[in-house]
Amino acid sequence: MGSIEELEKYAKENNVPIIQKDGLNFIVDYIRNNNIKKILEIGTAIGYSAINMALINPEIQITTIERNKEMYDKAHLNIKKFNLEKRINIIFGDALTTKINGKYDLIFIDAAKAQYIKFFEKYKVNLNKNGIIITDNLNFHGLTNNIENIQSKNLKALVKKINNYKEFLKENQEFNTKFYEIGDGIAVSKMD
Ligand code: SAH
Ligand code: MG
Repeated sequence: MGSIEELEKYAKENNVPIIQKDGLNFIVDYIRNNNIKKILEIGTAIGYSAINMALINPEIQITTIERNKEMYDKAHLNIKKFNLEKRINIIFGDALTTKINGKYDLIFIDAAKAQYIKFFEKYKVNLNKNGIIITDNLNFHGLTNNIENIQSKNLKALVKKINNYKEFLKENQEFNTKFYEIGDGIAVSKMD
């Protein structure tokens, strides 16, 4: 039997960047209130968010993509512990090149932050009518509002990319996006 506390403990001890509690609660509420059934997740890590979403109700089906073999194996094991193999389909591969044919009510983007625009553009075709895209970590621990103070070049470049993504969402003609100061910063994008 799996336990959520155990996953949280593992993530903490091994520095796995699982979604923050507030952010998770926000998404769980959204799934409940909008009768979401099919979810595509980009970035599984150890399966924490996927398992939490699947546990909301037995009709929920999740496809989740992870490129890191160690994480993938761990997620696989965790999903098994929760007996969720039938409802969480985990794909080992790079989400930039994975082929996904189905349509989803919710796409949750939670992988490499530098690629957010690419993920968004690639997977928007997999949205059902009235579907939404949720993106995590748009505040990046507060760094996105403090770019002048960042010393590391790489970090600065990454924060710039996140800010570009926010601009991309704000200016997007196809989607209307709301930004929430919840968890590490969450965006909800709906087709106009
Ligand atoms: N959604 C998880 C946390 C994901 S952490 C949770 O909240 O529980 C981000 C994960 O995305 C990492 O495990 C990383 O290996 C994976 N990742 C990053 N870029 C990726 C890509 N291009 N394709 C697939 N997985 C990717
Ligand atoms: Mg995240």
